[in-house]
Amino acid sequence: MRVDLHSHTNASDGALSPADLCRHAQRCGVDLLAITDHDTVAGYRVALDWLQAEASSTQDERARPLQLLPAVEYSTVWGSIGVHVVGLGIDPDHPATVEACDFYREARHKRADMIGERLAKLSMPGATEGARALAGSAQIGRPHFARYLLAQGHVRTVEEAFDRYLGAGKPGDIKLLWPELGQVVDWITAAGGVATLAHPLKYRLTATRLRKLAGDFAAAGGAAMEVVVGKQPAQESQFLAQVAEQNNLLASVGSDFHASVTYGSQLGEISALPKSCTPVWSRWLDAAVGNG
Ligand code: AMP
Ligand code: MN
Ligand code: MN
Ligand code: MN
Repeated sequence: MRVDLHSHTNASDGALSPADLCRHAQRCGVDLLAITDHDTVAGYRVALDWLQAEASSTQDERARPLQLLPAVEYSTVWGSIGVHVVGLGIDPDHPATVEACDFYREARHKRADMIGERLAKLSMPGATEGARALAGSAQIGRPHFARYLLAQGHVRTVEEAFDRYLGAGKPGDIKLLWPELGQVVDWITAAGGVATLAHPLKYRLTATRLRKLAGDFAAAGGAAMEVVVGKQPAQESQFLAQVAEQNNLLASVGSDFHASVTYGSQLGEISALPKSCTPVWSRWLDAAVGNG
C-alpha cells in the first residue's frame, strides 16, 4: 500500500497538470494520493473529474485504481515563522473551504504587489506582472517570482532566487497577510478535515521550539503531523514520531512533490513510518473498502 498525502499541481506551484499528476501517481504505484495545493482546491477538482472520466472509459479491470483525497495546504504564521498546515479529507465545497480559498486568492495578489515593489527597489522592475503572467490562473506564489527572476537573468537558478531574494528572512518573504494557526485549523476542522502540521523540519527550529510549535498546534485543535516527508533518515522519523506522540497527533506521510526535478521529493518515494505511529489515513482506506 503506497500512500502520499502531500503533492502539488499547477493549480499552485507544481509543474504537472492535475491529470498528469494522477497519471504519474498511477505509474509510481501510489494507491492513495492527496493533492495539497497551496491555498486552493481547484487542482483537486480537475483531477477528480479526470479520474472519474478515466474510470468510466477504462475496461481493464486489473488497472489499479488511484484513490484521491480532497486536501489543501494553507499558509499561516506562528510568531514570525511561516508555517504550513495541510487539511486532509476536507469537503472542498464546504463554506469554510470556499471562504479560505477566496481569502488566500486576494491575500496572494496583495502579497504579489508587495513582493514586486520590494524587488523593484532592488532594481528588478516588473516582477509582479511577470510572475502573474507565469502563474496564469494558479495561486500566485514565490516560485512564480523565482521563475520570472530566472527568465530575466537576475539569477542563474531558482535556488539562487530564494537564497538571495525570496527565501526566509529575504525581502520577498512576506507573511503578514497570512492568518494565525487557529484560524486555518478552524477552517479545516469545520470542513470535516484533519488539520496536519506540514513538513516540521523545514522551519529549521531547534528541538525545543519545534516541540513548542507542535504543542501550540495541538492546543489550537490540530490533529496530525507529517512524520515522514519524502526520503528522510530514520533518525529524523524517530524524532518526529516522538514529537507527534507527545502531542497526541496522528502521523501523516508525503513527498511534497512539485516536479520531477527540483524542490521536494519524488512522488510516492517516502521512507518508512515508525511502527509506534498511528497513521492518519486508516479512516479513508476503510471508507474505500466499504465503497467496494
Ligand atoms: P509561497 O507559497 O508563495 O509562500 O511559496 C512557498 C513555496 O516556495 C514552497 O511551497 C516551495 O514550493 C517553494 N520554495 C521554498 N523554498 C524554496 C527553495 N529554496 N527553492 C525552491 N523552491 C522553494
Ligand atoms: Mn510549494
Ligand atoms: Mn509547504
Ligand atoms: Mn507542499
